[in-house]
Amino acid sequence: MLGPVILAASRSDRMRRLISAAPVTKQVVDRFIPGETVDDIVPIIKDLTAKGLELTMDVVGEDITTPEQAAAARDAYLELIGRLKDLDLGERVEMSVKLSMFGQALPGGHELALANVRPVVEAAAAIGTTVTLDAEDHTTLDSMFAIHEELRKDFPQTGCVIQAYLFRTEADARRLAVSGSRVRLVKGAYKEPAEVAYQQKHEIDKAYVRILRILMEGEGYPMIGSHDPRLISIAQELARQAGRKLDEYEFQMLYGIRGEEHLRLAAEGHRMRVYTAYGTDWYGYFMRRLAEKPANLRFFLRSMVSK
Ligand code: FAD
Repeated sequence: MLGPVILAASRSDRMRRLISAAPVTKQVVDRFIPGETVDDIVPIIKDLTAKGLELTMDVVGEDITTPEQAAAARDAYLELIGRLKDLDLGERVEMSVKLSMFGQALPGGHELALANVRPVVEAAAAIGTTVTLDAEDHTTLDSMFAIHEELRKDFPQTGCVIQAYLFRTEADARRLAVSGSRVRLVKGAYKEPAEVAYQQKHEIDKAYVRILRILMEGEGYPMIGSHDPRLISIAQELARQAGRKLDEYEFQMLYGIRGEEHLRLAAEGHRMRVYTAYGTDWYGYFMRRLAEKPANLRFFLRSMVSK
């Protein structure tokens, strides 16, 4: 029951100010967002890749209000890619981007987001890696898929995310399960109405399996974005049934969640990519992590009280 309340708070400016100013917030935030600057994050990238993990990097932020902020978001990614060039890790470290942060919700936002994301995709390709477009709330998805299709004309390896909780996603999965396409399947992290999305966990889980089967039997490269142990075993079984080798799909999990499982899957020979967020505008990302698991909220509240 708490999840929807926390997701509503993730859109509230008043809550943003309150929570951001709380003295203990930082310690709890660090569990999920282990740095604010490129200098903070480079040692983490080196450490995780040395352990056999791959990464997808997210400069946190969304809901920007000016074109200047959108340009700043683009530049933050370009700065990161500049630093990755020296590390020479190629596709072991890719980028995840939210188009809202690139200006998608501003007037003329579709074109603005495309214009801002294109140089990031170009710079990533120049160092041998890729970009994946995150999925945000359902009202943004037609624009996201159109931008994805446009970028794929020049950079076919550009990935995108689909969300199992949306009714539309099975059809999207069929369209995207084509040769050369990279698709991350997640359950979905936004508060969506019953007209467009399954509301019950068991319905979402069943949809996840149906969609994953489409991706595994298709021609593309499935990226399984989940921490759910049941879905991870099912994914392994579906991959086996579809005759996929270990390097023909990958698992993805969030930094700070089930870290032992990241290492276990990598040790078994799986490609395991850790979604690693950093930056100062962490509020929305952090609140979605609290909404996913009430125990996170209890931990957060307890640390506030015990200070
Ligand atoms: P759940 O059933 O929620 O969780 C399974 C188990 O995982 C839990 O029992 C718990 O042990 C653990 N767990 C899950 N979440 C947490 C948490 N926050 N804290 C602690 N433990 C936890 N959503 C989008 O809408 N768009 C995106 O672009 C997007 N990208 C993502 C990228 C990656 C790599 C991942 C892993 C998730 C992404 N998500 C995205 C979030 C996703 O939609 C889910 O909200 C999130 O992954 C939780 O679902 P789950 O599959 O892990 O299963």
